[in-house]
Amino acid sequence: KMKKIQSINPYSGELIQEYNLLTQEEIDQSIDRSQIAFQAWKNESFTRKSNLLKRAGEELRRSKSYYAELITLEMGKVISESLAEIEKCAWVCDFYAEKGAEFLQPETILLADGHRAKVINQALGPILAVMPWNFPFWQVFRFAAPTLFAGNTALLKHASNVPQCAMAIEEVFKKAGFPSGVFQTLLIDSTQTLTLLENPAVMAVSLTGSEKAGAAVASAAGKNIKKSLLELGGSDPFIVLKDADIPLAAKTAAKARMINFGQSCIAAKRFIIESPVYDLFISIFIEEISSLNQGDPKDPQSQYSCMARPDLAEELFQQVQKSIDLGAKVVLGGIAPEKGSARFAPTILTDIPVNAPAYSEELFGPVACVFKVEDEEEAIKLANSTEFGLAASLWSKNQSHAEELAEKIESGAVFINAMVASNPFLPFGGIKKSGFGRELSRQGILEFVNTKTVYLG
Ligand code: NDP
Repeated sequence: KMKKIQSINPYSGELIQEYNLLTQEEIDQSIDRSQIAFQAWKNESFTRKSNLLKRAGEELRRSKSYYAELITLEMGKVISESLAEIEKCAWVCDFYAEKGAEFLQPETILLADGHRAKVINQALGPILAVMPWNFPFWQVFRFAAPTLFAGNTALLKHASNVPQCAMAIEEVFKKAGFPSGVFQTLLIDSTQTLTLLENPAVMAVSLTGSEKAGAAVASAAGKNIKKSLLELGGSDPFIVLKDADIPLAAKTAAKARMINFGQSCIAAKRFIIESPVYDLFISIFIEEISSLNQGDPKDPQSQYSCMARPDLAEELFQQVQKSIDLGAKVVLGGIAPEKGSARFAPTILTDIPVNAPAYSEELFGPVACVFKVEDEEEAIKLANSTEFGLAASLWSKNQSHAEELAEKIESGAVFINAMVASNPFLPFGGIKKSGFGRELSRQGILEFVNTKTVYLG
């Protein structure tokens, strides 16, 4: 039986659409189109590319509710957050439309012997993007805006639970007037994705997703001597020192854990609190999370709804249950989801033993782990005692001291007195098992170019 890609509403469980996977012949045709499109696209002026990106942003804003509703329908994100996601995609289009040319400017280097060289940044060709369902538009636009502006073409393999979003994104580029073949969505499974990397026309790959998916795709890329960029999971610490603004820290902590119903790589996951302020922090934290509105994701009043798939809810609860069995205490939630349901009770765990999944694994959903520490040295040690290294949030009123501590945290970003958030102006990415490479900012656009030295003799 032919495998199909299904679009299912996780809130109602209703099957909305089914799609056939592309055949090998159709995949080959798409790669050909991508290569042909690349030959012309790479030579287009920055002005034209910039205008097209601006138009993609305009299209997103013009039909904002249409695109936002697709996100909400397929992965259960509350509509207010889906609308914000579309706005952010328009922002990243505008950002590279305005800054792209400056970021790609050639550089002249004067050598000691008086000779000169210039360094130019040229497009590579068709780039594969393997993307997840948690921010089904943003993850793609964060990749596509810089990658296309640099003159590459893109092939998108999106997560199999968001096919309508995947196709709508291709439509955005079409409606904006991008030449045909510059951005294509391929409805394919993971085996077909790995085969794609064997095709010499595909030059590199960018993946956002789990460690397992990252390892599989980066291995296939490596075997074929192709560059990969990996943006994987995180178990981000949220460190609150005793001199912090505790009410503000606790309120922000709740937001940082609950955004996208906890299904974000940069969500704060481990709350590390100095003992003198622990009781105050946790009481406000519990109150904030308990007071959030659960409801239909289409309702503008809902602050959270359900997870993206029932299997994700089930898997998350197994991590919680195992941690409880090993001695973790439940101070909120801890209720098993109904079989086959994507709904999940927000949960807070404390007193988590070192051998519990909640101590070492990523909890990709609305489960917060709170730790009490005696001093900041213990806080930093605990923050770093993870195989991940994506980002961290650090709270203290002593700004200069916080800046010193930020250097000791093993991660790709530290936000002082703020929750971690991606921003087109700032490099984004991780170390350790959170992956490698950087998206956004100038770094992001230089990931998929040939930085070419031209020596002027
Ligand atoms: P995956 O990491 O499995 O999916 C991400 C993307 O990778 C999808 O497009 C998926 O396709 C693809 N993929 C998966 N395995 C392979 C493979 N072997 N070869 C090629 N492509 C592959 O996410 P899940 O939906 O399974 O979520 C599981 C966990 O992943 C979460 O609980 C969370 O820990 C993590 N995750 C992290 C994200 C992040 O932002 N860093 C985002 C989403 C998930 P397909 O859908 O067809 O399997």
